[in-house]
Amino acid sequence: MPRRRPKTLQGIDASPGIHVGLVHLVDRRRMQIPKVHIPDEGVEAEIERFRHAVEESIQQMELVREKVVHGGGKEPVAIIDAHIMIMRDRMLVEGAERIVRSEAVNAEWALQKIVAEIRQVFDAIEDDYFRERRSDVEFVGERIQRTLMGQDSEVIPPKHERAVVVARDLSPADTAGLSRKGVAALVTEVGGKTGHTAIVARALEIPAVVGVEGILARVGSRDRIIVDGYRGQVVLDPSEQMVRDALARSQGLRSRAAKIASERALPARTTDGHSVRLSANIEMADEVESALRYGAESIGLFRTEFLFMGTRAPTEGAQRKVYSRVLKSMSPRPATIRTMDLGGDKGHQMFGMEHEANPALGLRSIRLSLRHQRVFLAQLRALLRASVDGQLRILFPMISCRSEILQAMELLEEARRQLRQKGQAFADDIQVGMMIEVPSAAFMSAMFAKEVDYFSIGTNDLIQYTLAVDRHNEQVAYLYNPLHISVLRLLKLIVDDAHAAGIWVSMCGEMAGDPLFLPILLGLGLDEISMNPLALPFVRHMVRHSKVSDARRLTRSVMKLGDSQQTSRAVREFMAEQFPDFFTPAGHTDLLGGL
Ligand code: PEP
Ligand code: MG
Repeated sequence: MPRRRPKTLQGIDASPGIHVGLVHLVDRRRMQIPKVHIPDEGVEAEIERFRHAVEESIQQMELVREKVVHGGGKEPVAIIDAHIMIMRDRMLVEGAERIVRSEAVNAEWALQKIVAEIRQVFDAIEDDYFRERRSDVEFVGERIQRTLMGQDSEVIPPKHERAVVVARDLSPADTAGLSRKGVAALVTEVGGKTGHTAIVARALEIPAVVGVEGILARVGSRDRIIVDGYRGQVVLDPSEQMVRDALARSQGLRSRAAKIASERALPARTTDGHSVRLSANIEMADEVESALRYGAESIGLFRTEFLFMGTRAPTEGAQRKVYSRVLKSMSPRPATIRTMDLGGDKGHQMFGMEHEANPALGLRSIRLSLRHQRVFLAQLRALLRASVDGQLRILFPMISCRSEILQAMELLEEARRQLRQKGQAFADDIQVGMMIEVPSAAFMSAMFAKEVDYFSIGTNDLIQYTLAVDRHNEQVAYLYNPLHISVLRLLKLIVDDAHAAGIWVSMCGEMAGDPLFLPILLGLGLDEISMNPLALPFVRHMVRHSKVSDARRLTRSVMKLGDSQQTSRAVREFMAEQFPDFFTPAGHTDLLGGL
């Protein structure tokens, strides 16, 4: 048989690393669901059959969870917990039962219909992270469906060692099952940087490329494949020379990355003695372990929204457990936990969503929390109760005017009063801060600095609101420039006002995790920068090889430039000269790929 020509496919770099191996196809093609009418007298039995299948599926997931926990697996248990939570969610279970009753149809059909309805809710959400969560609902639906239909839910593990799993999408349970079976890399057709496959692959520290359109139609089991998680590429049927080149590149990059990672315990101090705290952003409690592994000095942002995905808020006790876990694992280092930042592009299912013409400017974040005080107070009590387990910092999101921070503070005081009444303990040294992510708050930072212990700058929103550029709209992405002069001026104002008032400032938006911007952040004088854990070793390395005096000079000169293209060019050229291993004037080198 003639040899096939090598073919390179481009996807998204989801987890760094290079691996050459044989394909193991995981085929999760859509199941054919028959629609069957149930006679009236059979409806209750059908519902019983459905409930039974849900219970059995929960038990299966608990088994998976146990294997992960006791098998010492590194997979994020929280995602599996979230799936169990979805299986118990009223919207799914009662929704399916309602359809069985009202349409007198079989449970499989009803389940398929309710999963499609819930998907639509998630489809309307614009935040990448939350949109990815619709696949959680699909995976849960599929597992219950397979139980109903008596099919095996487990994916078949590869027979060959160090295989490359290629799938349309992978559930965390799939990955948990596969990771102990010698899987060395993952490739999926769908998904983004914040999807499961990316999260799990980074936790397992294996290369992954996601969003490779059409790959399933092009590969067969045991085909040879190169997975390049730095460049987000896969090569099908590579030549021997391509394999040799890839392996050589892999070795070079791995040893460079390992050397950089070995500096993780060294102080983040410039050569001329300026220190900055390097912290991690996390979305799930069990990311704390990897944050520590990558050298996080604190958690700079724990986004608690993930806990509020269902139709009901988690109980105070359940929240307290999650917060305690983060605080205990980080202790004595601090952890900043942000109160729920729901609505807007992140959506929610809890409070009944009114249609909003402009969700980003609507009832979102702190505005929603202040509207639903019972839920907000429960979160504040849970946070306070957890504070005895570590060094808590509470963070309020999206404050846009003084009355909001005053109300939030008053509710925090109310939560304290309630706990005192019940005789429940909480720490008395909790720092309370606010996010600056709205231009009005940035302009008024001198006033706000009198009300809080620290600021955390959310550049993702601050940039979108300052430049009027939707952070999720690809069409206007070319305008989204963190180095826009107006953004730089706001950042300077915030930092200077904070310091003048004697409080510290963190930055936790994506801008903080892009090493390209490091000299500007050093030059502006941020006290903490908080980012995706994988970026930490690289940023630490660059801090240690920077001079704050150079960074200040660059920042001053960049702020005098006339337009934002010039600012970007100046920073790129500076970094390409200072760190040629990481940057070229046109972008970054492979070493920073997959972050
Ligand atoms: C931000 O806006 O920069 C931020 C950190 O908050 P989120 O990305 O969760 O909106
Ligand atoms: Mg924000």
